[in-house]
Formats: sequence, structure tokens, C-alpha cells
Amino acid sequence: MQNLQIGRPPPPSAAPSGPPPYLSGSVAPSVTVGSRPGPPPQTLPSRPQYQPPFTRPPPGIPNGPPSAGIPGPRFPSAASSMEPSPPAIPPQGSLPFPGSPPHGPPVNNISQPSVYPSQYSAAAAGVPMVPPSLVSGPPHSQPLMGGPLSQPYMSPPQMQQYTGPSQMQQQYTGPPQMQQQYTGPPQMQQQYTGPPQMQQQYTGPAHMQQYTGPPQMQQYPGPLQPPPISSGAPPFGSPPVWQQPRPGPGGFPMSSMVQAPPQMFGASPSSLTQRMPPVPPVMGNSPLAMAQPSTPSHVDPRQIPRPIPGSSVEFFETRQGNQANNPPSATSDFVVKDTGNCSPRLMRCTMNQVPCTGDLLSTSSMPLALMVQPLALPNPSEEPIQVVDFGESGPLRCSRCKGYINPFMKFVDQGRHFICNLCGFNNETPRDYFSNLGPDGRRRDADERPELCRGAVEFVATKEYMVRDPMPAVFFFLVDVSMNAIVTGATAAACSAISQCITDLPEGPRTMVGIATFDSAIHFYNLKRALQQPLMLVVPDIQDVYTPLHTDLIVPVAECRKHLEQLLESIPSMFESNKVVDSAFGSAIKAAFLAMKPTGGKLLVFQSVLPSIGTGSLSSRETEGRTNVSSGEKEAYKLLQPVDMTLKTMAIEFAEHQVCVDVFIITQAFVDIASVSVVPRTTGGQVYYYYPFSSLSDAAKLYNDLRWNISRPQGFEAVMRVRCSQGVQVQEYLGNFCKRIPTDIDLPGIDCDKSILVTFKHDDKFQEGTECAFQCALLYTTIYGQRRIRVSNLSLPCTSMLGNLFRAADIDTLFACLLRQAATGIQSSPLSQVREQIMNFCVNIFHSYRKFCASVSSTGQLILPESIKLLPLYTLALSKSIGLRNDALLDERSYWASHVPPLPIPLVVPWVYPRMISIHDLTLKGNNDSKLSSTLPLSAEHLSDNGIYLLENGEDCLFFIGNSVSTEILQQIFGVNSVDGIPTQFVLQQYDNTLSNALNDVVNEIRRQRSSFLRMRLCRKGDPSGMLFFSYMVEDKAPGGLSYVEFLVHIHRQIQTKME
Ligand SMILES: [Zn+2]
Repeated sequence: MQNLQIGRPPPPSAAPSGPPPYLSGSVAPSVTVGSRPGPPPQTLPSRPQYQPPFTRPPPGIPNGPPSAGIPGPRFPSAASSMEPSPPAIPPQGSLPFPGSPPHGPPVNNISQPSVYPSQYSAAAAGVPMVPPSLVSGPPHSQPLMGGPLSQPYMSPPQMQQYTGPSQMQQQYTGPPQMQQQYTGPPQMQQQYTGPPQMQQQYTGPAHMQQYTGPPQMQQYPGPLQPPPISSGAPPFGSPPVWQQPRPGPGGFPMSSMVQAPPQMFGASPSSLTQRMPPVPPVMGNSPLAMAQPSTPSHVDPRQIPRPIPGSSVEFFETRQGNQANNPPSATSDFVVKDTGNCSPRLMRCTMNQVPCTGDLLSTSSMPLALMVQPLALPNPSEEPIQVVDFGESGPLRCSRCKGYINPFMKFVDQGRHFICNLCGFNNETPRDYFSNLGPDGRRRDADERPELCRGAVEFVATKEYMVRDPMPAVFFFLVDVSMNAIVTGATAAACSAISQCITDLPEGPRTMVGIATFDSAIHFYNLKRALQQPLMLVVPDIQDVYTPLHTDLIVPVAECRKHLEQLLESIPSMFESNKVVDSAFGSAIKAAFLAMKPTGGKLLVFQSVLPSIGTGSLSSRETEGRTNVSSGEKEAYKLLQPVDMTLKTMAIEFAEHQVCVDVFIITQAFVDIASVSVVPRTTGGQVYYYYPFSSLSDAAKLYNDLRWNISRPQGFEAVMRVRCSQGVQVQEYLGNFCKRIPTDIDLPGIDCDKSILVTFKHDDKFQEGTECAFQCALLYTTIYGQRRIRVSNLSLPCTSMLGNLFRAADIDTLFACLLRQAATGIQSSPLSQVREQIMNFCVNIFHSYRKFCASVSSTGQLILPESIKLLPLYTLALSKSIGLRNDALLDERSYWASHVPPLPIPLVVPWVYPRMISIHDLTLKGNNDSKLSSTLPLSAEHLSDNGIYLLENGEDCLFFIGNSVSTEILQQIFGVNSVDGIPTQFVLQQYDNTLSNALNDVVNEIRRQRSSFLRMRLCRKGDPSGMLFFSYMVEDKAPGGLSYVEFLVHIHRQIQTKME
């Protein structure tokens, strides 16, 4: 392991004012102006007159390069219409997606007629549209390859990535660079072991006992000011003003009712200490009971539900005694043994028992939904997912519903038939798959075949699942070089990051790369080896873009690595004096798409300014947005929607051709993320946001984000479908994907960090004692070109008891539903309405519990089911989050909303309710685990003026420094003697002392857990950065809303109102 330069940006980071990192020039290609890219002649005046020759060629005229044909007219058709045109170069083998829907009929699929509209997906996900006789195909003459476990589930050698057990771990042990930069690969790998600390944090049930006893009345020492007391306070004693049924902004109590600002430090104990009556036990499951007396109410803040850190790793068997187990908290540290149901990392349900009827589900007020993260990384201690090869016949499937063979399909008739657990159809067992049944009714070979004993397996896909040869791994980089991007150092940071990441691209002949830059024109580069240096080819016509070459824009990385590095090194200096301020984002991605169209692949865009020209150009809506929000304009939410359909239409076409777009927004200004983000959202990509960009402190994060982006386990040209038992049906999919037919979603790109939420509704009843099964099938191409079907199964018991639903409720998935609902809501409804909706979500659930499951004697109490007792806290935090606050910038809110849909399960809660720990006393806390498990409630009362605190949500890491921190500690951590000496553009350093080492260890551990480098920010009391920090103190009363205690009281009040 290398010297850990924690937090340091990659070496060539450019200060905005300094010379571009590569300007030193020795390596910059020497160029004949007009023929190849190169540094601008030194003699040229640097001011207005200078236009880099390659950036502004006269329209239609090839810029210098003798280039084969840039002439616009030559390829007009490619750009002028959305129709898929024949690919310029036939990809290896068959033509991709010729004309027709890219998911055309499966090639070689003899057994399926070609009349079905989407045979591709039918084959992939198995639509029941094919008559059984047709689909079952020839007798499965191929035995399971390799026999049961011997050569088990042979993963092709290339597939080191996620198939093989051992490879898995090795591979994901961490991107190499990561290591150099911070602690490196090892962590990454561990990463996937599950966030240890988290667990500690949210171990919920453990502290149940805590609330079973009669809540003692204690002083409420918190920062709260007692709510104003009004007269006539019925059940709650002193119903504060905010308690009364006044409609706040949208029925949700907000700032208007809150008078007291939070007291930051050491608020004096409230004088209104009250006793709470004993709480009778309610239901056998010891729900948390919050007593509320009929006198002035006060709740002991130490008694109210908070995530409690735990510190040990939990071992979790998915099924025991033929019954599903309730999974551990998603944020905890656990190791899974798949004993029939898949790991909860792959799928978890809002309730671990399924209601028998739709009526029962509505009564519970909870949604029935699954969080699916089909490529989620396992813990290295877990058995990896096995690859099963059925040979030419392909995986065994139900002939009616096309569900895949799984442990819950029941073999009958001495094994000659099997009954599908999804549709109930009685299938004939293929002769070569026959096995006798044992005395227990199970197949004798069940334990030797992963598909019969494991909840998750990966099948090798046959030709039937391909419409063309599996695509190569194509990475195309598109970099903004307009004036602002250059001046702020964004271009230099992007080029540096790409250059350093090239070595992390998957190895092999199938990995291809391409690059282009853009401002008001688009510049492609011919990276072909034979050429001495990269040749720039300019596309000046941004209204009708085309690709200047049919070949050589995207070439195998092995053939062009040197050229590419050289080019990346010279780009910042080539454009050093660029005065073009316009950015043709839409046209540029369209042009890049045209180059990628024959293959598909990942398009990584580095964008720095508002797209101002060309296709899909945008206007600044920021000013408009701020005005509207502050004036209470009803339709301000429309600013969170894309401005028009231009980019969406383009994105759909990209998705059809398997192009996945990630956008890295590196900016110091408004870029209209609401509009831009529609492209990644539709193509299975994501948005990264560096604002306000600092080349000093953000370059390291950019580099690490990019590195993880290209090196993490991922797949291409994927299609996913979730099937379920008869009785329920899929209602909706939510996430980043493109959907063209009702049953399947298309994912041009899918990686280990992406999740999809799937909601269900009843269309029939279940019998008590039966099980409801869910099966997710993801057909995808690995980065090494194998076609695979990853199948995850979850079978849950059905119940007709409402109490069971609450007992088996899953707070992580439930909150994920609420979070996505809110993220969608803010784009279509006024904020006040969204706050009201999330409030109602919470109140309705607890009302149902109160009404049907709690004892009569507990009228005056707020009773929270143990399983979801943290829901109020998370709901409160959500209502104060950036997405739902009035005072956040438009782009910040858009980013927040775009971040939510693909959020992996373990990061859902921290995104809204971050983790806070003290760091000035780290050396007193023992090992890393205990350092991270000693989390603090998000309340200013836990901040001391003598302390330094770290708060992280998986994306940002804020350091708050009290006003009276000792010089010694400042010196140890920051290397300065006073707070003022710490630069605002903060980079965490490692110094040679135990405290600094401990802090760096902790930060690296968090990075490992979150798969994220984290953006470091320094927060000081009394300036805007301090305000930012305090905005996360969600338990305190603030201008944005109630305190936690008040919020509980408010919920109680709402429930009582509904009870009347
Ligand atoms: Zn079936």
C-alpha cells in the first residue's frame, strides 16, 4: 500500500488562475496549426482576437485537417433524423438494431415466432405471450454443465468480474488508484462488505426494551424552546399553537409556527419538565410507546427513538426452517447466507409478509414494494453468486409465464412435472433435467444445483437472448472546453481524471475508447495508432450534427492509450485561450451518440456551463425560479421539470441504441440540472455534481468518482423484469431507465450501485399459509462480453393479520418508497403539498396501527410499531432536506431529486439522516468500528464549542469546528493554529500524529462503506457554511420546521384527530 495522501487532489490539479497543468508543454503534441490539435502559438495575442483555429472553423468547412471528410453534406442523414440509420460500420457479426426497435426479435430464436412486438424482451424476461408449445423448445438435452458443483456454474474466464466467487472479491477490491489516493483498493473491496458502522447505527430492535418501561419523565434538556402554551389544551395539555389544526403550508407545520431559533450550544434545560404516565405494553411485539399525558406534554429526548449504533457483524440466513427471515437493517453490517431467498442486498420488500388481500394492504396504509439492486456487491465473506450453464437449451423456464427455475418451483409426480411458483402452471420436466424425489418431496439433487437451492443465480444466456453479438465495452469521453470550463480548471480536472483512469478500464480487446471536446462546436479526435498524433476533426454545424468519420473515432484502448494520454495532457493548453463561452451540450452528446450508435456504450460527459446553443439549448431559469419560489408562485415546481422534451426525446433514442450517459457537472454556476439530468435518468446513468467547483478541493473527488464509475461491476444492454406470484402484479418501476413496453425496463447501463423500486398491487387473494414469490430477471452483457441472466428470488409468507404486517415491516424499504415519492413529488406539486403528503404517509401508517393493533387503554399515547419507530425521525429529516426546503438553490434541489431514484439501499437513510461523529476526541474511542459507531443525534445540543465534528451523508463530508477548539487540536488535525488559518477550499491532510491518523482512518473507512470519496467541506459557526451544517441538525426546531419532539407530538395530534 502506498503512501496515503488522503484527500489530496491528483497531482495535476489546476488552480483556476494558474497555468493549466499540462502547459509545461513538453509533452504537448507539436502541431501544425490547422491540421492537428496543439497548443496555440505562443505569439498570438491572448485576448479577444485569438480564436483557436480549431474551435471556430467556418461552417461547413473542415477545420484544417485534411481530414477525411468533414464536409457536412456528406453525412446529413445520420444527423438529420431520429431514425436509426444503418450503422456506419457493421459491428462484429450481425448488425445491431437495424432500423427496427433495437430490441428486435432475437436472433436465432427459432422457437419463437417473430410476430410478437418485443420478442427480445419476451425472451429476456419471458413474456407469457408465447404459446407454451413454442417456447419450451427442443427437449432440454443438455445436462447442467459441469454437473452440480464440480465445475460449478462455470464462469467464463473473462468474467472475473462478478461471476466467480473468488474473482469477485479480488476484482472489487478496489480500484487501483483509489489506493494511491486514499487508502486504496483494499477498502473498496471491503466496501462491499456492507457498511459496518451503519449497522451499529441503526440497530433498531435492540433498544426496544428501552421504551417498554414507563417512560420516565425527564427533563428535556434539548435546545427546544418550550412551545408557546395556549389555553384549552385537551389531550396534550398545552397544545402549542402549532398543534392546532391549522393548515401550515400544506398542512405541515412549518416555519410560521416556529418562533425560537435553535439554540446551538448548551441550551438550558426546559423548565417544563413533566411526568409521563406509564405505558402499557401493546401487542406482543413491544411497540415503542410514547406516552403523552394530558398535561403539558414533554417527552424525554433520551427516550425517543433514534438509530442506535451496534458494533458486531450479524450473520443472516435468508431462510430457516423453510421460512423467510426478516433481514437485518440495510445500514447494518451483515454477512448473508443464501438459503433459498436472495440476499437482502439484492431485493428487500417493504414488508416481509405479504398481505393476503388488497384490502388488508390498504388498511395498513403501507405500500407493497421491492427495492431491487440486481448487481449489488456482496460482502467478501459471502458465497458469491454462482453461474449456471444449461448449455444450448438455455435456463429452464416455466412454459406459461417464462419464470426461471428457482428453489420454490415444486417438483411433483415423482419429479416428472414441476409446478411454477409464479403462475401455478404444471410443467413437464425436461428429460435431461429429471431427478427422483427424496422422502421429503424434494429433488435428490436439489442441494447440488444452485438454481434449486439458492435465491440468486446467474444463468449463461444462449443465442436466444441476443439480438446481436454482445457489445464491446465502449467508453466515450466528452469534455466541455468552453471558456468557463477552462478558466475554472474544470477542463484540466476532467482531463487529468480521465488520463489517470485509463489504466482502470477493463482490460482486453473488447474495451474501446473515444473522446471529443466541445464548446460551440464539437471536436472529435482520430486516435488511430498509425497516425502520429491525434487528429482533430471539427463538427461546426451544431444544428445538424454528424460524425466526421465512420471509423477510428472509437478504437480499442490497447491501441491508443499513448495517444489518448498525450491528447488529454494537451487539451487544457490547446484551449487555454479559448474565448468561446457558448456550450453546445445537446448537440455534442448527439454527435457522440452518433459515433457510438453502432455499438452502444457509456458516454461520460464533463459539463461546466449552462448549455446555451445548439440542440436542446437552455435558458437560465435560475433567476426566474428564485423569484417564483419566494413569491409563493404556485407553479414553481415546474422549474424542477425539464424545460421541454428535446433532451428526453434524444435520450430515448440513446437508450434504444444502448448508450448510457453519465454527466459530471463541474461548475460554479447554474446549469439547469432539471433539464440536463433527463438524459442520465432515461439511459440508466447518473448525475455527478461539483458545485461550486474548486479545482483545489474537488479534483480528487472527481477523479475517484470517475474511477469508480468505470471500474465498478457493471453491465450493458440490459433488460429487467420482475415477476410475482398470481395474486399481485407489478404496478410501477421507479429508477433510472427507459421503458418502452409495460412489462420490462431497458437499462443501457446498470451497475452495482443502482437500485430500482418496484411497486405492486393485488389482483387476487392469497391463502393464508401460502407464499408470494418475487423474481427479478436481469439480462445483461458483462463488461467482458458475456450475456448473462441474473435471477433473484424472494418468497415471503402471506398473512391475513394486520399485526403481522407491522411486525414484518421494513423501515429501509418503506423509507425508500417515501423518499422516492417525495423526489417525484417536488417536480409535480408545490412543496407544501409534498410535505403534507409525506406527513400523511407517516400519520396514516401509525393511525392504522393505533386503530387496529394497539390496545384501547392507550388512547393518550403515541404508539409506534417497533419495526418502523424511526419513520417519524426520517420523515422529519426528509421534510428539512435540500429537496424539500424553500431556500435551496434550484440546481441543488434538482440534483437532490436526480440523486434519489437510483440510490442504493444502504444509502437511502443516510442521504436524509446523515451520520455525525465527534473527531476531536477520536483517539479516546478505540478501534475504527467504535469510532464510527459513536454517532451523535443530529441536534446542536450535542455540539460543543471545544469540539470538531464530522457529518457525512455518503456524498458530502462536513467538518464543523467549534469556536474554542484548542490550538493543539487544530494543529494536529489541520496544521494551523487558529480556525481562521484553515483555507476555505479545504483538503484533508494527514499529519504525523495519532489524532490526524485516526481521523484519516475514519474518513477512509467511510469512503469504503459509501463507495464514495466524499466531498470535504469546512463549516464555521457564524458564516453560510455554518448555516449549512446546522441545516442538518434536523432534530432541532428551526426556521424550516419543528423539532423532533414537537414533530412526534404533532403526529400524535394528527392521529388523534383521525381517531375522532
Ligand atoms: Zn409460470
